[in-house]
Amino acid sequence: MTITRRTLFVGAGAGAVAVLLASCTGDPRPAETSPSSTAEPTAAPTASAPATGVPEPAGWLRSQWSTDPYARGAASVVLAGATPQLREALAQPVEGRLFFAGEATDLDRPGTVLGAEDSGDRAARELLDVAGQGERVAVIGAGMAGAAAARRLVDAGLDVTVFEARDRVGGRIHSVVDDAWPVPVQLGAWASRDDDASLTGRLTLLGVEELDIDTATGWSSDGETASVDTATVESAIARAGEQPADLPLADALEEAGADLADPVLAASLSWLAATSGADPERASSWYPPTFAEDSFAVAAGDLAPLVDGPLEGVQVSLSSPVVRVAHDEAGVSLRLGTGEALSFDRVVVSVPLGVLQEPGIEFDPVLPFAHRGAIAALGAGAVETVWLRFDEPFWQTDAALWHLVGGGGPVATWINLEPATGDAVLVGLVGGAAAEEFAALGDDEARAAALASLALLAPAD
Ligand SMILES: Cc1cc2nc3c(=O)[nH]c(=O)nc-3n(C[C@H](O)[C@H](O)[C@H](O)COP(=O)(O)OP(=O)(O)OC[C@H]3O[C@@H](n4cnc5c(N)ncnc54)[C@H](O)[C@@H]3O)c2cc1C
Repeated sequence: MTITRRTLFVGAGAGAVAVLLASCTGDPRPAETSPSSTAEPTAAPTASAPATGVPEPAGWLRSQWSTDPYARGAASVVLAGATPQLREALAQPVEGRLFFAGEATDLDRPGTVLGAEDSGDRAARELLDVAGQGERVAVIGAGMAGAAAARRLVDAGLDVTVFEARDRVGGRIHSVVDDAWPVPVQLGAWASRDDDASLTGRLTLLGVEELDIDTATGWSSDGETASVDTATVESAIARAGEQPADLPLADALEEAGADLADPVLAASLSWLAATSGADPERASSWYPPTFAEDSFAVAAGDLAPLVDGPLEGVQVSLSSPVVRVAHDEAGVSLRLGTGEALSFDRVVVSVPLGVLQEPGIEFDPVLPFAHRGAIAALGAGAVETVWLRFDEPFWQTDAALWHLVGGGGPVATWINLEPATGDAVLVGLVGGAAAEEFAALGDDEARAAALASLALLAPAD
């Protein structure tokens, strides 16, 4: 992969550039307990957070995809009133010049790594159907979709440049490799969400080992308790499917007589949101998110090869946010945040749905109604992760997946990596509106909120 660093552009259009470079820091970033992402905290690691009884972690990291200007969410979702077919509308090429990729454009496996890869491959094939030999093509975004598109276009002999806003490739795949942790910290994708487990197969081919998360428990202030209640949600969904209008999932549950204040149901909805990004208050009950299995495998290695592999030998321009895409019958002109303008024959747009919604890129002429309708009606679902490393376990369960029932904090789903790694590492998952709120917290508040969520597990005084 050829990496062109764009730091020289800082001199051009200084005002706009200053804003954009500041925006670049929005990458979900390590938020360790000290300024360095690798340093250990200076605080005594055994000190207790007074409000929770949970020990201070020796290290912690979190994602902030919801507030990240180059993500604005974790995974696209179908909101009440929308349909999955809007993904196909979003995927339609525009006048043979603009081609759309990204997980949100994939009908079969949206919100997944493999769906993103399929979408990039599809967009590249559509482009190749109309492209002449040796044409110049820009790919906007170096996530899984952009990488897959670029690979196919380069292999077909086109002159391809990938423009990536961040100073790294991978997008919503982001492994932080740091010896302080027993396994790379995954701030984005790290598990197979597909029933066919094909991401698992891909990781095996890349030599990435996996950890089995195969024992789940519910946990309340009384200790082990009922885990999630998928039956209530599924029966409300079945009932909603018979109704004349598509209600948000939470409304469908209420209509079905479910008690949203029930702690087990709340934990179930937290699990659903944490694995899909769908907020029950807004998600479609006609095209609902589905529960993940309680038993799955997560990557134990660096996921960078997933994207680095396809980008091998591809020209990639990092720190190069595209802010404007103009097209006419002659070609496409891109403007970068640096002020630079560049011309191409065609472009693949693979930025996340949330970036299109913002809108993070100006299109001239504006996108067709069908595209704008899809962008407005689909949702940029939120999922955030928080990794906590303790000196020793303070919890009393060997289960690898915890659903916290009736706790006070925002993070209700936790993966316990201690059984698999021998290290006292917990990974919190939070989705939906709670994830957006969690992402918006400052570092100290977010760490305190994560620890408060774990108070149910803290030893009694
Ligand atoms: C917390 C979390 C957990 C997840 N868990 C799983 C999982 O377990 N399994 C699974 O299969 N999937 C999971 N996913 C979803 C998966 O990560 C995504 O579906 C997939 O990586 C999306 O790839 P993409 O190429 O469509 O988008 P992205 O990876 O977001 O790539 C888009 C790229 O465009 C860049 N960009 C944005 N704006 C601009 C601009 N203006 N100019 C230039 N570049 C720009 C971005 O920086 C980014 O690199 C998870 C996601 C998150 C956030």
